[in-house]
This record gives sequence, structure tokens and C-alpha cells, in this order.
Amino acid sequence: MPSYEEYCDEIKILWDNHWLTNVGIKHQELQKKIKEYLQVNNLELMVNGHMSLEIILQAMGLKGEIITTPFTFASTTHAIVRSGSIPIFCDINPRDFTINVDKIEECITDKTVAIMPVHVYGNICNIEQIDSIAKKYNLKVIYDAAHAFGVKYKGIGIGSYGDASCFSFHATKVYNTIEGGAICFADESIREQICELRDFGIRDEEHVDRIGTNAKMNEFSAAMGLCNLRHIDTEIKKREQIVNRYRGYLDNIDGIQINPIQTNVTSNYAYFPIIINEKVTGVTRNDIYSRLKENGINARKYFYPITNLLGCYKEQYNVRKTPIAEYISQRVLTLPLYADLPLEEVDKICNLVSMCLTNH
Ligand SMILES: *Cc1c(COP(=O)(O)O)cnc(C)c1O
Repeated sequence: MPSYEEYCDEIKILWDNHWLTNVGIKHQELQKKIKEYLQVNNLELMVNGHMSLEIILQAMGLKGEIITTPFTFASTTHAIVRSGSIPIFCDINPRDFTINVDKIEECITDKTVAIMPVHVYGNICNIEQIDSIAKKYNLKVIYDAAHAFGVKYKGIGIGSYGDASCFSFHATKVYNTIEGGAICFADESIREQICELRDFGIRDEEHVDRIGTNAKMNEFSAAMGLCNLRHIDTEIKKREQIVNRYRGYLDNIDGIQINPIQTNVTSNYAYFPIIINEKVTGVTRNDIYSRLKENGINARKYFYPITNLLGCYKEQYNVRKTPIAEYISQRVLTLPLYADLPLEEVDKICNLVSMCLTNH
């Protein structure tokens, strides 16, 4: 959060103009600034990341089978189902946990309309390979970029790749507007659709042409976003130091795999997942999770369970088709990571983890 004073300064004008939502001045200013920050051509702000996913699918008229991965937050899968499509689960690769590009083609049928890969933990998918498969089969590519705010690939903003990318600005993400999100899109001509769908499908005072929803960002969220954007580079630098501290401790421990450093990628240091191979370490992920919890440290089993095992989906899908996602989800632990986490706390967490391994 910004300082209380900074936020109050930012929202003061709202008491003068009484313009609280429906694309006011804060919304317009934030849109311009985030578009610049993310280095993308087209961007529209949304009420949250989830509605960004639903709206882009509707705006692009995508209905059919959509290839995605189950190693993600429930939102990715829900957005596909709620917009009337069928998720086809492709497995992930065990190195960076993004979609396994060698398995995409076997998921394609004559009903496939799109691929929705996830830049999970801010790790970048194999963009080139996804692009060439999409071209070959004439499919759209919509990235779930909820974790990837500020990430660059080959010096270019990550939201510039594919047909569209959806970001989340939820309070728990690297950058927040309390709740919020954005759609970045390649084809300028779908802007009108996106903006109308975000506002009940209203074209003008007397015309409602589409069955839209309400997904507008309000002025107070946009104001929070303007404040947080001033500090985002400092925040990401602090995260980098924390991640490097974790790496220093955990890089060379047998049986612990840590999040990879990807080439050509400018990271946002969003998450620090570790994968615990119990056959080597002698302790399970759950053992380490509990030990940390006993010591007041809340690591997360993120993502566990995978989405094709959630109560609402498990009857419909065969998880044996995504064995790597299942394997990783049973062994992953994301360690605490936020800009103000003291480095001494990181040392303490790492000591607890290594004590688990030696004292089991
Ligand atoms: C957070 C998240 C979303 C949803 O974003 P909200 O802003 O919370 O609606 C979607 N996908 C992934 C991978 C996320 O982590």
C-alpha cells in the first residue's frame, strides 16, 4: 500500500467532482500509465483479472474447446467454462510449470478454438512454439498473465504477445489496485466490444447491442493503482533481493528444485516456489508446510489441488492425462515473498526448511 497521505491526496478530487466510477479521470489516467508501463499497444482496465478473462473470450467470440493447463488458479478454468467453452487440459513441463508445448497438438480437435496458457508464477510460456502451433491450426492465443505484471520477454512487454493477455491487479499480486485487472489485445478493432461488454453491452443511451456484464474499474481502485505504480519498480527490486537470498540458501540442496531463471526474461519476482522430492529429502511437502506453520510462517500449497481435481470438475476430467501437473502440485510450496519481508526472516525460513531435511 502507498502511505495513507499519498492515497488521500490522490482521491481528494473525487470529493469535488463526484465522479466515482464509469471511466472517470483516475481510470483514464491509470489506463494511459499502465499501458506505458507494460509497453503494450492496446489496453483496457477491468474490475478484476477474472472478468478480464471472461470478457476477452466473449469479445473474441471464442466458443468451443480451449486448451489450457490445470496448474493454475481456479479462475482460468472457470473463465473458460463460464463463457460457454470446454477446457481441454494439457500437461505442464516440469522445469518452469508452464504448458508443455510438445503436448498441445495432441489436444487439438476440430472443435478447438483457442489456447489459454498461463505465465504461472510469472514464468513465461514457450511463446514462439505456442505461436507457431496457433498459426498452423488457426487458433487464438489468450494468455493468463495474472502473475506476470511488468515481466518482459526479449525486452518487450509480456502483454504484447499472443492475441491477448489478461492481468490481475488483485491485492495479493505484485501490483494492485485493491481489485482490478486489464486486458491487452493485439487487434485494435475489438476495443469497442471489450468496452461495451464491460458496461452491460451499452452502446449509447438508447442502445444495448450485446449481452454484457459489469466489469468496470472504479475511481478509488484506479487511484490506488496510480499510487502503487509510483513505487512498483522499488517493490520489484526488493522482491529481487529476497528471491536472491532464497536462492543463495536453497539452490544446491538435493531433492529441492527451485523456480528457474529464464533466459531473455526480465522477471517480476512474483513467487518463489520450491518442489520437494520426498524420495531424496526424506520429508514431504506437507511435513515442511506444517513445520513452517508451527513456527508462524504461512507458506502456500500453490497450486494444490490442480483445477481438474476441484470438486466442481473432478467428475468430468481424468487427471491421469496431466501427470506432471499432479506430481508438481503434490510437492510444491511457495515460500513467503513480499517486498517488505525482512531478509533475516528469509534466513529463518530457509533454516527451518533445512532443519526439516536434516532432522527427519
Ligand atoms: C489471481 C488470478 C486470477 C484472477 O484474478 P483476480 O484479479 O483475482 O480476479 C486469474 N488467474 C490466475 C493465474 C491468478 O493467479
